Amino acid sequence: MESVFDKVSAMGHEQVVYCHDKETGLKAIIGIHNTVLGPSLGGTRMWMYENEQQALNDALRLSRGMTFKNSIAGLNLGGGKAVIIGDAKKHKTEALMRAFGRFVKNLNGKYITAEDVGMTSSDMEHIFAETKHVSGLPEARGGLGDPSPFTAYTTYMGMKAAAKKAYGSDSLEGKAVSVQGAGNVGKYLIEFLEKEGCKIYVTDYYEDRLKQIANDYKVEAVGLDEIYDLNVDIYSPCALGATVNNDTLKRLNCDIIAGCSNNQLADEKVHGDLCLEKGILYAPDFLINCGGVINVYAEVIGTTKDWSQYKCEKVYDQTLKVFEASAAENKNTQEVAIEIAMKRIEDIAKVKVTY
Ligand code: NAD
Repeated sequence: MESVFDKVSAMGHEQVVYCHDKETGLKAIIGIHNTVLGPSLGGTRMWMYENEQQALNDALRLSRGMTFKNSIAGLNLGGGKAVIIGDAKKHKTEALMRAFGRFVKNLNGKYITAEDVGMTSSDMEHIFAETKHVSGLPEARGGLGDPSPFTAYTTYMGMKAAAKKAYGSDSLEGKAVSVQGAGNVGKYLIEFLEKEGCKIYVTDYYEDRLKQIANDYKVEAVGLDEIYDLNVDIYSPCALGATVNNDTLKRLNCDIIAGCSNNQLADEKVHGDLCLEKGILYAPDFLINCGGVINVYAEVIGTTKDWSQYKCEKVYDQTLKVFEASAAENKNTQEVAIEIAMKRIEDIAKVKVTY
């Protein structure tokens, strides 16, 4: 079996922190990937991992993705991410959040946390009781609130850029879009798509959530597995990662993949190339889902939501640029976006050599 050191040396991580608190039952892993551009920042995910390996892999893959995301979004942040093992609906307590907050505090600002799957801005408030290295706080607590609407906005901008490249127009009117996961971000994305007149299919792991969304919006609810077999223009993964894989690429019948979830490609090279070969335009996840981190960064540096909006607007052009380079170089879009992100890190590392 591959050791933790084998994994981190292959992926380039700086530090991995295992956090355990017997009293609250906390089991968490914090992955710090690269801090050349600044302190690592990335949300905390609370999920029912089947085993420790799964949780570690998620922490490593997600924190690496944050390095690319923060870089390509032009933020002065490194990449980090945390996972808490457990069911957010059953196991989350104030004490658990605060125990986690103490581990974040011990890192002295090398890692700043925020929301991800299974976490909310009120959880951030509990973490804030223990450490100042947390963002995505409620507005009433002096933060900039839930980052999800910003994530949904940049995802929507990325989707429109993909439509422009694939169809020659960025209008999504009449397009069939399948949204996998109607959580915090998925819901706001559905709002944008509904306003633009899309035919929306949606699925969610939680039946009550799916019912609520089907009640509130003009969408057609579909089964968890059925989502891969629909005939749509755009497949939008907005749940967990690795849903673009050998199995699903045989089934997906779409022109574009553009969603907010992190690590959509099970294997960046294999499945990025397969999308290219099959003529599916893949909008790199970390490129188009950066709205949330832009807004939490705005909170960290003490600026406003107007600034976040201004930064988010840039995602449309940046996405088009990646598509153009991918077509010109016949390289998969994920590879092109990673190269852009890494170039910024390498360039800034050279500048910092002198102080
Ligand atoms: P969330 O927990 O609010 O929503 C995720 C939803 O996906 C849940 O409703 C869950 O039931 C559903 N889900 C899980 N597995 C599923 C499956 N197999 N099929 C269908 N539905 C499933 O999380 P969120 O904040 O909306 O984040 C969604 C994705 O976007 C995650 O991958 C997250 O890492 C990514 N992301 C979120 C933000 C943000 O601002 N919240 C920012 C960047 C990226």
